[in-house]
Amino acid sequence: MAGRELTSKFIKIRCPKCKNEQTMFGKASTRVLCLVCGKALAEPLGGKSRVKARILEVLA
Ligand SMILES: [Zn+2]
Repeated sequence: MAGRELTSKFIKIRCPKCKNEQTMFGKASTRVLCLVCGKALAEPLGGKSRVKARILEVLA
């Protein structure tokens, strides 16, 4: 599911580098970094987010 584009939902992602799990807003307008290792997990793309991490769950 890497590279999938999402819109206005919260998603739970897992860092591919350190396996840290965290939630983020699917429509984040800024780069999302792993809170543990600092790897870029998502980058803004035309108002959406391009997610580079594994998506574990999409939260309502
Ligand atoms: Zn990490």
